[in-house]
Amino acid sequence: MAEIGEDRIKMSEIEQLYGSEVFNDGVMRDKLPSSIYEVLFRTIKEGEPLDLEVANVVAHAMKDWAISHGATHYTHWFQPLTGITSEKHDSFLDPVGDGSAITKFSGKELIQGEPDASSFPNGGLRATFEARGYTAWDPTSYAFIKDEVLCIPTAFCSYTGEALDKKTPLLRSMSVLSQQANRVLSHFGEDGHRVITTVGGEQEYFLISEADYEKRQDLMFTGRTLFGAPPVKGQELEEHYFGAIRPTVNEFMKELDDELWRLGIAARTKHNEVAPCQHELAPVFTNSNRAIDENLLTMEKMKLLASHHGLACLQHEKPFEGINGSGKHNNWSMSYGSTNLLEPGDTPMDNLRFLIFMTCVIACVDDYQELLRMSVASAGNDHRLGAHEAPPAIVSIFLGDELTGIVDALINDHPYQSAACVSMDLGVDVLPNFLKDNTDRNRTSAFAFTGNKFEFRMPGAQVNLSDCNMILNTAMAYALKQFADAVEGLSGAAFEAAALEYIKHSLTEHQRIIFNGNGYGDDWPIEAARRGLANNRNTAEALPCFVSQKSLDLFSEMGVLNEAEVRSRYEVKLEKYVKTLNIECNVMQRMTRRNYIPAINAYATKIAKGITTVKDALAGADLSDQEELLERLLDGLRTINVAHRNLLQAHQKAEAIVDKQEQANCYAEEVVPAMEALRVGVDAMEGITDHGYWPVPTYNDILFYA
Ligand code: ADP
Ligand code: MG
Repeated sequence: MAEIGEDRIKMSEIEQLYGSEVFNDGVMRDKLPSSIYEVLFRTIKEGEPLDLEVANVVAHAMKDWAISHGATHYTHWFQPLTGITSEKHDSFLDPVGDGSAITKFSGKELIQGEPDASSFPNGGLRATFEARGYTAWDPTSYAFIKDEVLCIPTAFCSYTGEALDKKTPLLRSMSVLSQQANRVLSHFGEDGHRVITTVGGEQEYFLISEADYEKRQDLMFTGRTLFGAPPVKGQELEEHYFGAIRPTVNEFMKELDDELWRLGIAARTKHNEVAPCQHELAPVFTNSNRAIDENLLTMEKMKLLASHHGLACLQHEKPFEGINGSGKHNNWSMSYGSTNLLEPGDTPMDNLRFLIFMTCVIACVDDYQELLRMSVASAGNDHRLGAHEAPPAIVSIFLGDELTGIVDALINDHPYQSAACVSMDLGVDVLPNFLKDNTDRNRTSAFAFTGNKFEFRMPGAQVNLSDCNMILNTAMAYALKQFADAVEGLSGAAFEAAALEYIKHSLTEHQRIIFNGNGYGDDWPIEAARRGLANNRNTAEALPCFVSQKSLDLFSEMGVLNEAEVRSRYEVKLEKYVKTLNIECNVMQRMTRRNYIPAINAYATKIAKGITTVKDALAGADLSDQEELLERLLDGLRTINVAHRNLLQAHQKAEAIVDKQEQANCYAEEVVPAMEALRVGVDAMEGITDHGYWPVPTYNDILFYA
């Protein structure tokens, strides 16, 4: 355990320490000649390319700054298709001939690196294209120092230009959104800015004792408990949510805050979540690209720092069955300068602009609902979506009463009657101001408007948010493009009339996606089916839409992913799903054979011996209860053995299938139910086996240890 209280950032020092490990704007301005800084600034803000001469100067300043902050190495920090970050450390050291050494870091080393691409998943891209890949500096996300290493956020591409990572398509999607948004903004005289998308990712996680964690192979190898009867007490008392934070957890959170603040990550809110041992961290939002880098760093730090406090941090979507899982809410908006484009404005024209962007969001989410669902599909998230604490697997939009009223009025051409009984004529004075304070909350919606942003609630806690944002941005860019095409060349009153007509038409076409009711309700899937909304219940069902013609067309038309890039990502996702389930099966079978069956056997034997001993001592004793228990244990063992064999068979069948999609289908349809059956068998025995015999910590032990 760490010495508590040491090395802690005092609030009075925070201004000095905040971002102290980041080569941020302030440092750049300070360390770079002003001419160089200006060029770099334009690159960062406006996305202009950077030339080698400028990069050389930046690299030199970056190296000196990093060394003065204790760095000895640098790395190109990137996100291969596994979704987690990768790094390879190179020293700044450069031996010179005479046995001495100097430190060196060139512009070329800053802007381009060459990791060996062959060991990263590439979904067949390597077969079609060249194996070698390179990493390229993404100056829109700041370099930072982590454990004495200067980390340079980079994109990862093949030499033929195909994206081999998660970041490159995200950057492309942001850029195409900016282009199309500008076409729309030109009608308002607001073009010529780089429109950025913003993200604030709220991260949920569990903290349990490291000692318990290390006693469970399922947690160690798969991140979730593959067995475990429900605890005697669950979350029904709802006492954990926003409750007092346990002292050890509090110490962990303080250390985490300090580390994140040093890295310039504005971790702001921390609190207990609904489930026992569950917590949440919310940062202040920033541009999507940096926000995702920050989220990945936050997740890494959480795992690392937990061990300082004797804790293990679980980021799986569903570590405990029957207990709430962990998500990562993706708050999303678009802005330029200080203007948030999803903020209803004060003037009629601002409101028209808002309505256009809002309409495009509704249209794109409806049109590409399956892609959004696909972007968060994983073996882990399959346990969460559709359970009663996360949104269902159906994508729908929550607008709240106020905005829904406005949409209805627009569709039906009648004046808008607000909740506060203020009647207004749409298209002239449009939106009421109180919309901005819309604190309406619907926790059951997949995609909810929360006043000036949307909150996409489907992502699971482990996911890299690049995929869903890449899809959201691309689909949004496409919707904006359609609008811009429709009003091309129009201005003044003609533009306003055409815009309102377009809005009306588009909202009418897409209103099926709007749903303000209870997304957890049993009637919603039926209603959703009636509306023709997709309901892809698991990953195997959700993934194929990625390679549908509609999807390929979207990504190629918007220049975000070519066909090979889409197909490779689909392959990698399929593979990851299958591999995850394969590992879970292996762990389940092993734990059943080596932990549970021996433990239940040992306990049954003890009971059997007890029966004989008592019988010997007291002829005619009534041992019916003991005999019944013994029978239940033996029955249980039989059930477990049968379920274990069934799982083995299903698993072998799935593993033998060559076609990846068919294999995934077999896992979803046959292996997962067989896993559940085995779990039920083992969990039933947990309730009647002496705790001392049980080979692993139970839910009671893990969740209520504090
Ligand atoms: P709530 O979940 O109650 O709506 P907040 O409104 O404070 O809480 O915001 C939740 C998350 O949304 C925070 O991470 C916040 O930074 C982020 N957020 C707020 N505004 C935006 C925006 N314009 N774009 C993206 N994220 C945002
Ligand atoms: Mg929220």
